[in-house]
Amino acid sequence: MSPPYGSRLAGKIAVITGAGSGIGLESSVLFASEGAQVVCADINEKGATATAEKIATLYGKGRAVAIHADVSKEEDVKKMIQLAVTEFGKINILFNNAGIMHPADDNALTTSEDIWDLTMNINVKGVWWGCKYAIEEMRKTGGGSIINTASFVALRGAATPQLAYTASKGAVLAMTRELAVVHAKENIRFNSLCPGPLRTPLLMEFLNTDEKRDRRLVHVPMGRFGEAIEQAKAALFLASDDSSYMTGTDFAVDGGLCAAYVTPE
Ligand code: NAD
Repeated sequence: MSPPYGSRLAGKIAVITGAGSGIGLESSVLFASEGAQVVCADINEKGATATAEKIATLYGKGRAVAIHADVSKEEDVKKMIQLAVTEFGKINILFNNAGIMHPADDNALTTSEDIWDLTMNINVKGVWWGCKYAIEEMRKTGGGSIINTASFVALRGAATPQLAYTASKGAVLAMTRELAVVHAKENIRFNSLCPGPLRTPLLMEFLNTDEKRDRRLVHVPMGRFGEAIEQAKAALFLASDDSSYMTGTDFAVDGGLCAAYVTPE
């Protein structure tokens, strides 16, 4: 077992969607390093399997399992949550992190209905399915922590439009807030993670020129894109008992983006 091996999630079972890449990959490994056993779920089964294998290599066999799950499909999500129970006995943490930002997602006039529906099905309905099946299981064990990935674009408008994506992330914020209030007395906490723009495949494949990158970076006070591991560390805080009095928050981890009017030269 390679150090550091912490204990902030000792004895906890976590399910992480989009575990094959970016934030989901970093979070899976970080959560395991803090003692969690992790169900790594992704529509890209190869990616999920590679993450689970990485965890096994670092922290030992039995610390992670992989499953193919398309979060927009109710049956897949049900099986994903059931796997946590059959493999590890329960679920304490759900990180609804999987999401897409489609290259054909544009403004109100040019975005097609197909792209709108696809984005909503994955980014919003997928979060709902995850919450639905996790709530059922968490009730049996007295609570848990659910983290839903939204985005800074749900908090600030952008003149570089991705209408369906923006609307989907706004829906995640609203849904998470309501779930937090409804289930607060059951000790099931719900928080939204709002990442700023990150140096992960999702954004970098989209921002494929210096011009496109600079158009965004000028609005980030820290002057750089974030890293997936910086989101994973925030997700760890929300997943762990360190955030035991937090529910219903829009937790921005964005290099100061949402706080800025004029940025430093
Ligand atoms: P990524 O593309 O690196 O990883 C996303 C993962 O989700 C991939 O492994 C992909 O296979 C998986 N996925 C896609 N559709 C799926 C589906 N239907 N079912 C299951 N898995 C699916 O992206 P990332 O940057 O790590 O993004 C993770 C989350 O963070 C997303 O919800 C994204 O919207 C959000 N986010 C990202 C940024 C950014 O700049 N990268 C900013 C704000 C919010």
